[in-house]
Amino acid sequence: MAEGVGVWQATAENPWPRPWPESVPLTPCAALPLTEPLRERLRQIREHQMAEHRAGRPQLVCGVFYDEEVVCLRAGGGHAAYLGTDGRVHYENYGEGFDKVVLTDPRDVASTIVKCSADIGVPELIDLLPARPANGFVCRLCEGSRWESPASTGDPDGRPWCCRRCRGLGWTLAEPSAAADSDAFPPR
Ligand SMILES: [Zn+2]
Repeated sequence: MAEGVGVWQATAENPWPRPWPESVPLTPCAALPLTEPLRERLRQIREHQMAEHRAGRPQLVCGVFYDEEVVCLRAGGGHAAYLGTDGRVHYENYGEGFDKVVLTDPRDVASTIVKCSADIGVPELIDLLPARPANGFVCRLCEGSRWESPASTGDPDGRPWCCRRCRGLGWTLAEPSAAADSDAFPPR
């Protein structure tokens, strides 16, 4: 989690309610509900990735690619993420030698899928992320779009950022609070 520390500190300091109150349980997301056509496309992508890998473009560095039927979502900088045809998202911090894990926190699953699905040509994977539960609220930073506005990130010419508040889910579990409104965050 070291990568996200700055983001979390900024969030904790801002006057908005915390997006994920500890008192409200968050339902785990064990796997994306892949349809058979999507599964088939993932198999085609996997075949292509495996051919690239064999051709000497060593994009795929983790054993999970051989152990399980997965496609590589991203690999580089010591981190890799894979999506299995069973809908599970695998994450490995190989740079620091940690064992691979299956992501079940819906926020981790969402941020991985939102950031990577277009890169592998299957943006519709985003539609399979957990929908806002009855006790959830539309994310007030991205207004449910999953992406932050360029004005909010302070990087108007850069690539869009996956929302730092909802982490790509488009919703949070924070209680709405009229008193918490502030111009301090996001920066304008
Ligand atoms: Zn958001």
